[in-house]
Amino acid sequence: MEDCIFCKIIKGEIPSKKVYEDEDIFAFHDINPAAPIHILVIPKKHIPMLTDLKQEEEALIGKIYTTINKIAEQEGFQKQGYRVIANCGKDAGQEVMHIHFHVLGGKKLGDKIVG
Ligand code: 5GP
Ligand code: ZN
Repeated sequence: MEDCIFCKIIKGEIPSKKVYEDEDIFAFHDINPAAPIHILVIPKKHIPMLTDLKQEEEALIGKIYTTINKIAEQEGFQKQGYRVIANCGKDAGQEVMHIHFHVLGGKKLGDKIVG
């Protein structure tokens, strides 16, 4: 999608600190980290919001979680654990309209997941 920041990051038109890439998925460090580890994991397919997900994308979403596990092992924080957050829409404060999974870790995170 032409005007999407994350599609541009996937294509290399906007630089990013890449962590992982395969034919379906791209992962990179968040530009404004909220924790010592803050990685964004995104599908290469442009899907604006979680509410746009179709049945045919179920396998892709499953693959995102197994890939997050792989990234956690690769980056050395699998044992300590991590939190995965996906914001959807206005109330969740979604800013970039290309679905993305925040992977947060590197410290003991707060007990509350709702601010
Ligand atoms: P949202 O609020 O939509 O769930 O999260 C969007 C995330 O994308 C934010 O954490 C923000 O810091 C990150 N972000 C926005 N623009 C860029 C960018 O150009 N590069 C990188 N690496 N992260 C970005
Ligand atoms: Zn996109």
